[in-house]
Amino acid sequence: MKVKVISVLEDNYMYLIIDENTQHAVAVDVAVSKRLLEIIRKEDATLRAILTTHHHWDHARGNEDLSKLYPGLEVYGGDERVGALTHHVTHGEELKFSSINVRCLLTPGHTSGHACYFVWEDDSPDAPAAFTGDTLFIGGCGRILEGTAEQMYNSLTEVLGTLPKETKVFCGHEYTARNLKFALKVEPKNELVKEKLAWAKLREDEDVPTVPSTLAEEFFYNPFLRVS
Ligand SMILES: [Zn+2]
Repeated sequence: MKVKVISVLEDNYMYLIIDENTQHAVAVDVAVSKRLLEIIRKEDATLRAILTTHHHWDHARGNEDLSKLYPGLEVYGGDERVGALTHHVTHGEELKFSSINVRCLLTPGHTSGHACYFVWEDDSPDAPAAFTGDTLFIGGCGRILEGTAEQMYNSLTEVLGTLPKETKVFCGHEYTARNLKFALKVEPKNELVKEKLAWAKLREDEDVPTVPSTLAEEFFYNPFLRVS
């Protein structure tokens, strides 16, 4: 399973998950449809579906365009406000696209209908991946806009925090350096925060993404997974 990390807009991430045996692909958070189409062409992939984490324009704006271009395209999300939505997912619902398996996880907090997607491939040695949108960021979490602090806490610790530790974390924005600066204020003596922050600053200078991290790593430096 290949995951293409596609930087768009100011600091957003869009993703294309590709089954390398069939070249069938699933897109996550299509903010800029043109950019996604370029990558699909370059990868010689066939788009099977879109997974949308939440309805905000910087995660879902491209859904309508793509639905027009690919009649019958399946668009998944946990919120009726997601553009061109065809499937409103439920918590724990599993989807399958060729050998790519997806478990939908409802994670209210940033928005009331926010969904994350846990993805793994049949018979593959690759670690599973979680597409966490604006719920879990590297070193931080999303702003609570519609849910309660308790919901966000539950989404982070009970829903995402209980996934396998080797899960790769692909989040919705490049906020890593700024999140870790805050983490360092919370835990000034945490050496792992310092190390990851130094690394993230270098990546930022070079304009290179910091995704993915792993869930195991997040438990070492992300203050929102260290609150219990
Ligand atoms: Zn958002």
